[in-house]
Amino acid sequence: MKYNFCPTCKSDVAINEEGYLACVNSTCNFVHYENPTPVVAAVIEYKDGNVLLAHNAAWPPKIFALVTGFLEKHEHPELAVLREVKEEVGLDAEIKGFLGHYSFKKMNQIIMAYHVYSDGEIQLNDPEIDEVKIVPFEKVKTWTSGTGEALKKFLESRGYTPEVISFGSKS
Ligand SMILES: [Zn+2]
Repeated sequence: MKYNFCPTCKSDVAINEEGYLACVNSTCNFVHYENPTPVVAAVIEYKDGNVLLAHNAAWPPKIFALVTGFLEKHEHPELAVLREVKEEVGLDAEIKGFLGHYSFKKMNQIIMAYHVYSDGEIQLNDPEIDEVKIVPFEKVKTWTSGTGEALKKFLESRGYTPEVISFGSKS
C-alpha cells in the first residue's frame, strides 16, 4: 500500500522523525507503519517419509512449494495452517511441530511454519492449487526464501541435507 495523502484526514504525508511515512497534520495520528503480514506455511509430511509440495496455478510450471495462507480474523495460526491444508489439498492433517518464524522480505510477510502430517486422500478442490507432488525426503530440494528455509530445517531434523535451488521470488 502506498499513500500520497493521509487516508484519515486527507492532509499531506511525509517521512517523520522515526523514518515512517506519517500525516503532517499535528492533530492526526496516522502513521504508515507497514507492519508485516503474518502468513502460515505447512511442511506436509505425507504418509511416512514423503513431503507433499504444491503448485500454484499462477506460477510457472515445475515450481512446487509449501501450502501457505493468510490468517482469518482472530484465528489461531495452528487452526489457520490446518484450514489452509484442508482447503488447498483436501487433507485432514495434524500438527506435529512448529518449525519457526521466517521472513519473506519481498512481500513484507512473517511466515509461521508448521510440520503437519497426513495420510489421507488428496483432493484438489481449490483452483489456486492445480497440481501436487509427493517427494521422498531424500529427493526433496529446497529453495532460498522463507518457506524454503523452513522445509530445509524440517529435512535436517530428519537427518537429510537437501540441495538448495534458486527459483527467484516465489515462496
Ligand atoms: Zn491525517
